[in-house]
Amino acid sequence: MLKNDQLDQWDRENFFHPSTHLAQHARGESPNRIVTGGKGVYIEDRDGTRLLDGFAGLYCVNVGYGRQEIAEAIANQAKELAYYHAYVGHGTEASITLAKMVVERAPANMSKVYFGLGGSDANETNVKLVWYYNNVLGRPEKKKIISRWRGYHGSGLMTGSLTGLELFHKKFDLPFSTVLHTVAPHYLHRPDLSMSEADFVAYCVSELEALIEREGADTIAAFIGEPVLGTGGIVPPPAGYWEAIQKVLKKHDILLIADEVVTGFGRLGSMFGSAHYGIEADFITIAKGLTSAYAPLSGSIVSDRVWKVLEQGTDEFGAIGHGWTYSAHPIGAAAGVANLKLIDELGLVKNAGETGAYFSGKLRDALSAHKNVAEVRGEGMLAAVEFVEDKPSRTFFDPSKKVGPAVAGALLKEGVIGRAMPQGDILGFAPPLTLSKAEADEIVAKTVKAVASVLG
Ligand code: PMP
Repeated sequence: MLKNDQLDQWDRENFFHPSTHLAQHARGESPNRIVTGGKGVYIEDRDGTRLLDGFAGLYCVNVGYGRQEIAEAIANQAKELAYYHAYVGHGTEASITLAKMVVERAPANMSKVYFGLGGSDANETNVKLVWYYNNVLGRPEKKKIISRWRGYHGSGLMTGSLTGLELFHKKFDLPFSTVLHTVAPHYLHRPDLSMSEADFVAYCVSELEALIEREGADTIAAFIGEPVLGTGGIVPPPAGYWEAIQKVLKKHDILLIADEVVTGFGRLGSMFGSAHYGIEADFITIAKGLTSAYAPLSGSIVSDRVWKVLEQGTDEFGAIGHGWTYSAHPIGAAAGVANLKLIDELGLVKNAGETGAYFSGKLRDALSAHKNVAEVRGEGMLAAVEFVEDKPSRTFFDPSKKVGPAVAGALLKEGVIGRAMPQGDILGFAPPLTLSKAEADEIVAKTVKAVASVLG
């Protein structure tokens, strides 16, 4: 396989890559990489380049690459029973066991888990269930969903609408009019530099209140948010943000969807981000860390209060009209069971908290004083460095200068994968939860070199 020189040509001629400049790729103007293997935090390509993956794929390979336990669980499941559906009460040992393991780990108010394939379809499920919930309760007008600018919730029609990044809307006729966006809770980007962090939280709350007032609380069904903004820039919330937002939602009887596709299963140093920030959600979206991406699987965990209404609905209207062929796919479920066991056995939630704090602390020590570094931030095994042209006046670089991508490119040359986040000049990290202190040191040292090579 490694010797197949035609792969590059076949790739350019046949493969429609997601999130890629299609024309440049087809013309062979942009680099491609054919990945052949992985072990621990490292991946390798067919040219023999070995890279430290500081982004765990797409924040998903939480247990690291090359885990034989999960590979064997998948192989055994495939040999025994590769597929059976989950409709009308069917299940497999793997899917039922995984459901129990997920609900046991979820916050106490959560009741059941519906399994899908990826984060986007899980959020699609959540929105449908929110609408169903309000229809069962006789509130057909209460349907709009509030999301945040810079939130990421998928790239389907509804979930692409929820995503608050312009790139995912432009030329796709999105967002849908049932989706509203409110401010992103990023203190660095506060509208007025004189605001304290507490002032900024009050501002986020007043913007949300004003939106609800304008639209009418009786038209708003749910609020969706990631405990820590992910693709929008890896931004932990300001102190007190979630507490203050939840007060508003409770007051207006608005459901809360905690999108934990990135934060679920340990990334913040807690099993769930909801527990980490005291978020009492009605829905929790899970994917990535559920199987560490060894097989596609996602889930919508629903709370007791939602579940009761869903049950009432099926008593009134019959079986729920929602399901995918691959819901609770046995191979994904087997991967999930093996993965969650590994997370426990290896103490990865604790490592994400401890080594994650070490990693972002070292990044901060090394880079905070740099003239173009506005902020080094992190929570658990998530970290980001944001660049500005001028620090005292908080003047951001002109996006056309592509400073973030340049730093990520320089870092790649050093042998480390960091991600130029799609909005702003932000270098993001989300390494496997297995990261050691020595590996963290390697990322930091190479990041310092990369920053120096681009910005001096
Ligand atoms: N929600 C969040 C918070 C995500 O980060 C992502 C993916 N990055 C999604 C949803 C969508 O997941 P998927 O790409 O598996 O559809």
